[in-house]
Amino acid sequence: MSNTDHLHKFLFDNCDIRGEIVSLKQAYRQVMENNPYPPSMQKLLGEFLAIVGLLSSTLKMDGKIILQAHGNGPVSTVMAECTHHNEVRGIIRQNPDIELTDEVALAANLRELLGQGVIVITIEPKRAENFAGKLERYQGIVPMEADNLAACIEHYFEQSEQLATRIWLTVNSQTAHGLMLQALPQQIASAEVNAEHWETLVTLAATLKPAEILQLNHLDILYRLFHEQELRVYDPRELHFACSCSEERCIQALVALGKDELEDILTEKGSVDMDCQFCNQHYHFSAEKVRQLYQGAMLH
Ligand SMILES: [Zn+2]
Repeated sequence: MSNTDHLHKFLFDNCDIRGEIVSLKQAYRQVMENNPYPPSMQKLLGEFLAIVGLLSSTLKMDGKIILQAHGNGPVSTVMAECTHHNEVRGIIRQNPDIELTDEVALAANLRELLGQGVIVITIEPKRAENFAGKLERYQGIVPMEADNLAACIEHYFEQSEQLATRIWLTVNSQTAHGLMLQALPQQIASAEVNAEHWETLVTLAATLKPAEILQLNHLDILYRLFHEQELRVYDPRELHFACSCSEERCIQALVALGKDELEDILTEKGSVDMDCQFCNQHYHFSAEKVRQLYQGAMLH
């Protein structure tokens, strides 16, 4: 069995600890093909994709989970999202005012890339058609208190949910991989037993090597790490790259710009052209079409 683009959840039977393991290969490659980035930015985006894959298992309703960060460093924005339908996409933007030195382009951590910044987790329910009410949107701020993303997310879970969490991210040119262990509210074992298991499991998980991630599938990795534990592995979810852009959404954005702005663009360029930053899909609107759009919008 190949573990290309899968998420497995697992549960230990004799203690209150759960886990998840995610690998993105195909989807990760597609994100990178659409926008080639220098190695350090590629690695950071890969980490965001792996985390959003792990977090997506908590998505209970139709919608999506978005992990994004903004900063004042060489990278201004990084964003990855995963929908309820297992569609993953992501993007990272350079700050046009700050030069990306060769050193930083090759290897730099979260803080060196983003500078001072903030990471936000958003859970966004899908807007049903004809629904005009307010959507229940959840937003959590992840303080950038460490120089790597995994540690920031661990800290967030400990602070906001009081759940001890450990995350190991491995990103190279082929794979964005994540392994997570998380303590659950005490239910089946004593606090002492849970603490003992936590220490053992974290120690075992930390022995996973990048070469094993490349060579082994998830079940073999879990066996290699935890074969002495009573472990229950659930059926995997398959993740894939997909973009939610559409002509319809472009039209909504155009109409929102308003007549004056659209006329300015038409005067300058003769038509309106939009490129999706996630998938490079190109959308072209002739002057005639644009005028139809805003005239149509005014009638409503
Ligand atoms: Zn797109």
